[in-house]
Amino acid sequence: MKLGILGGGQLGMMICQAARKNNIDTIIYTDSSDSPAVHFSNNHFISNYNDISKIDDFINECDVITYEFENIPYETLNHINKKLNVFPRPSVNNIIQDRLTEKKFINKLDIDTVPFLELSSKKELSKIDEDFFPAILKTRRMGYDGKGQSIINDLRSLKNIEQNIYILEKKIDLKQEISVITVRYQDESLFSYLPIDNTHKNQILFKSISPALINQDLKLKALMWSEKIIKSLDYIGVICVEFFIDKNDKLYVNEIAPRVHNSGHLTIESYNISQFESHIRAVCNLEKIEPKLQKEAEMLNILGSDIFKYRDQVIDNNQFFHDYFKDEAKKGRKMGHLTKIKS
Ligand code: ADP
Ligand code: MG
Repeated sequence: MKLGILGGGQLGMMICQAARKNNIDTIIYTDSSDSPAVHFSNNHFISNYNDISKIDDFINECDVITYEFENIPYETLNHINKKLNVFPRPSVNNIIQDRLTEKKFINKLDIDTVPFLELSSKKELSKIDEDFFPAILKTRRMGYDGKGQSIINDLRSLKNIEQNIYILEKKIDLKQEISVITVRYQDESLFSYLPIDNTHKNQILFKSISPALINQDLKLKALMWSEKIIKSLDYIGVICVEFFIDKNDKLYVNEIAPRVHNSGHLTIESYNISQFESHIRAVCNLEKIEPKLQKEAEMLNILGSDIFKYRDQVIDNNQFFHDYFKDEAKKGRKMGHLTKIKS
């Protein structure tokens, strides 16, 4: 079996590592030469995601195709899907690539999001109540790790805003952030990992703890909402739903990642099957395995030049250091992670 992966980052790298364990060949398609995944794949292509002739060469090497980041152009996914199965389906990506269509989809399922405004007309702007502030202006497309976001404190700051580019979200007082990773197989069966607790610094994930310490009601609701979302999308593979919990213990879906997720890295050491292997098994239609927690775990992201410290450090038996082998240790760039298992 030959699995094609669009995107060459650390998520792709860990999919390749899990594929190797299952005797599946991997072929990476990436637009950057500094791509960790290519070192662990059997073959790779480097070109932009709109280069259809290169994409056709890639298709010819693969049996099934997936992606490790959500901003692959919809047209490219659609083109591939006419020739070869793409999982998750391009239609999923089309909804989730745009924060506005994503939130509307979630609300339609009777699932709560933080209040938001479309900002699609001047008329709408004039109706915004002062108590909607402070708010966060977010680009509808291409945002990640807090990029494309800014805090807005009053109506005046929105005066010259371009229409149909942003949404405006109410900023809420967060008590906790959690995520749920769910996998759905081609026979429509699904399994969820236990909710994971996430702490962000400068809007970038800093630390994840599994399982999250939350009350039973919140746990069940988060699992139920994740499963409702994955079913409604007729989704194949691993999905991650990010949640907010406010000071009154009210739950909201923040966003959906149609892929394996940073908060799930600790599943490699703390579960019988990692999120990466679950994804491969679902996408490649292999026998299913139910994820079971083996040990509690904590994961720390290693950003920028902090990586050099870890490369030289001797670590003990309960710690697992993952280096992404990126060439450039730019500030804030995810360079590796460390998982600590509680014994
Ligand atoms: P990204 O796509 O960059 O991950 P998110 O919408 O998940 O964007 O925002 C990143 C982080 O910023 C969140 O995990 C949360 O910590 C904070 N944040 C985002 N939106 C809100 C909000 N409406 N209220 C409070 N905090 C928020
Ligand atoms: Mg996020």
